[in-house]
Amino acid sequence: MNLNGCVEQQTMVTGIGNRLTVGTTLLFCMVFGQHTAYAQDTSAESLLREHSKEFRREIIEITDGVYMASGYGASNSAMIVGESGLIIVDTKESKSAARAVLEEFRAISELPVRAIIYTHGHVDHTSGTTEFLGDGELEIYARTGFRNNLLPDSDLGAISFARTSRQFGFFLDSEEFINMGTAEHPIRDEEGDGYLPPTVTFGEERFEVTIEGVDVELVAAPGETDDQLYVWLPEQRVLFPGDNFYKAFPNLYPIRGAMYRDVKVWAESLEKMRQEGAEYLVPGHSRPVLGEEQVDKALGDYASAIRYVYEATVEGMNDGMTANQLAETVTLPEELADSPYLTEFYGMVPWGVRSVFNGKIGWFDGNPTTLLPLSEREQAERIIGLGGGADNIFTELQDAVASEAYQWAMQLADYLLATDYRTTEVTEIKIQALRGIARQQVNPTARNYFFSVANELARQ
Ligand SMILES: [Zn+2]
Repeated sequence: MNLNGCVEQQTMVTGIGNRLTVGTTLLFCMVFGQHTAYAQDTSAESLLREHSKEFRREIIEITDGVYMASGYGASNSAMIVGESGLIIVDTKESKSAARAVLEEFRAISELPVRAIIYTHGHVDHTSGTTEFLGDGELEIYARTGFRNNLLPDSDLGAISFARTSRQFGFFLDSEEFINMGTAEHPIRDEEGDGYLPPTVTFGEERFEVTIEGVDVELVAAPGETDDQLYVWLPEQRVLFPGDNFYKAFPNLYPIRGAMYRDVKVWAESLEKMRQEGAEYLVPGHSRPVLGEEQVDKALGDYASAIRYVYEATVEGMNDGMTANQLAETVTLPEELADSPYLTEFYGMVPWGVRSVFNGKIGWFDGNPTTLLPLSEREQAERIIGLGGGADNIFTELQDAVASEAYQWAMQLADYLLATDYRTTEVTEIKIQALRGIARQQVNPTARNYFFSVANELARQ
């Protein structure tokens, strides 16, 4: 981002096995002064600002020869110092982000980079690779099937981009944007993608290799993505879980849209990590977890929470409950809900529930009423009729916003908009409701999405 608040944003659309850039590179500017500054934080905003401390910039020495760059943009990168060369775990979201990290690493070691490991194929972990190249040989390690199944489809560039930018709040102003849940702002540039494909892939469960005298184990760990691996250094007892762990409730479903994340397998991968008995956990986002007991608790809480959501949802499905009913009723048991690793700063339980339902059995909820529903307009007209007419509903809408019943207000607004009733005024009130509900969210992806759509409507 440059000084006048403009951000050069390339679409981040990944196709099967390769990166596709959809459309042209677009220049967006943050829009300031759309609304007056909020005088006081809501309690959700206070929590979210506190969470931002997780993303402060720091090079952390994990143990002898293992360093982590935490808080430099969208994701973490790590450096392992070998006998006469370096191993880099994940290469950041852009070339400039990679350079910012490399500059810090270079203050520690001048040895050439001899290996790069991709924990998975998301662009925020793979886009700065070229910056780590030097003279001589370098291998890039990843799992076979790297980048398979990452995004729904390369045909969906426009919708993926729209929803990704809303989720991460790319175009929000400084009043609206607090963080992305797993990072603050990404570091971006106009230099293009620094991604390089893997040179060594492995199909086996566990791939053991010695690089520059360092014993490294790369272990298949499907979870947030199918291509995920974790890096285990048995000697140093350091485990890099990629994006299968960060200090927030896991994003079992990203609202930007993604293929089904197999959460049952995700929990199994976490149990596998747990069995390594790591002393240090160095995730792809958020600060490290230090100490064997804490690492075990972190991974255990994560696995238990995911398994709980999966099992409760499947049990309810077998009992004939619908996705809506399950999203409303499945909540984490208290001891998990209170875990410092499971606050809904990234994923949300009800979204995970819906994802399991849809991922396992598809969109039909089992209730025949939903098979061939009334059109949105017809339903709205009938409900408005029952409510005493559109003028009545409009008054109710104003009252709902005034009493901070924002979700109800948005639903009422949608009825009125479906019938084209006073569209301009109703839209203005819906914008107020969106901004109101945004400020009540501890979950930044929800907050960012609400604010982004409010701004889009305001610009129409
Ligand atoms: Zn990531």
